[in-house]
Amino acid sequence: MKLPMTNPADLQENPRSFFCVSEDKFIKVFTTSGTTSAPKKAYLTRRDINTIINSSVTGMRLIYHINPHDIIRLTFEEGYGTEIWGNRYCYEHIFGKIGALTLVTGRLKIEDELKILLEYKPTVFMDVSSRINYLTSELKKLHDLDTLGITRILLGAEPTPNSMRKKIEQAWNTDVFMGYGTTEIGMNMAAECEEKHGMHLTETNFLTEVIDPSTGEHLEDGEIGELVFTTLNREGMPLIRYQSRDLGRIIPDRCPCGLPLKKIEIKGRTDDMLPIGAGDNLFTRMFDDILFGRPEVIEYQAIFERKEGKDHITIIAETSSITDALRDKIFTGLMELPEINNGVHISHTVAPPRVELVKPNTLDRKSIKAKRLLDKRNLYD
Ligand SMILES: [Zn+2]
Repeated sequence: MKLPMTNPADLQENPRSFFCVSEDKFIKVFTTSGTTSAPKKAYLTRRDINTIINSSVTGMRLIYHINPHDIIRLTFEEGYGTEIWGNRYCYEHIFGKIGALTLVTGRLKIEDELKILLEYKPTVFMDVSSRINYLTSELKKLHDLDTLGITRILLGAEPTPNSMRKKIEQAWNTDVFMGYGTTEIGMNMAAECEEKHGMHLTETNFLTEVIDPSTGEHLEDGEIGELVFTTLNREGMPLIRYQSRDLGRIIPDRCPCGLPLKKIEIKGRTDDMLPIGAGDNLFTRMFDDILFGRPEVIEYQAIFERKEGKDHITIIAETSSITDALRDKIFTGLMELPEINNGVHISHTVAPPRVELVKPNTLDRKSIKAKRLLDKRNLYD
């Protein structure tokens, strides 16, 4: 039997066509980030929310030994603009159910963050890796992080290079564990154990397949392809063979930690999405709109690098009219993207973009044909 796949675009265009219960049964809707790229929406019933919370409570207790004595520092935003993110809501309920004191705010200034750490002495810190990485580099200028008493740092769904993990672990003298989840399928879909080699899947909630993204053929465990998920117990909006656009593999061997759950590794994306800042996503078409929206621009390339805990974007644009006015207009266009603006002004994980204007035919056309957004950050090492 061959069931067709569910394409993410279907969720953007018509989420209601996935409803399997009457609309009044839904109590939450969560959306993916991406205000200019039609966010995908997940509607959840009370039972769906309880399933996410209960399975995450089990995982948090079992893998990270979170208990009522823990104090959790949680700094997820609730969303920007019209986005509605689910992480903060779910984790507040997860830790609340465990009975741990949870300290929740959005992203604070460094001095205010330090005040919270010193006054309440949290034992667990949770956010996305780029924000923790930024906090680490700034906080350690003000205080010895090793003395603050954080015993576990849990990183949300965002690729985290191992080099970044080691830097954070050394600064806080603690363990950093990574998790994986998507708004559409469920928060907390997979989490690392103490082995820190791949993330154990919550196999009771969904079925995981790996396919060849070009042919759709099923791949064996160990082979890298697109991760495809089928929800097993979603009540309101079940998804069948949903293409996550994440590239990864199922690790074939049993984990030495003893947990009988399969593990996955994330290796990249099948589309042109680039994660930026603290949990936002950029797509080539956003840059196309800004750059090619200016008739003077002939060609461009956007280069992404990571320096001192921040994402740096350099736009190199070819034009015959190299003027400050054009440079300013492009810069303003970029800063109007909420994904960049929030990163620069709220989470402080993105540096203001740099715009460089060059003469026509300066850029390497082969490199542009491969990718207009060139990511040099090595996110999936
Ligand atoms: Zn394990």
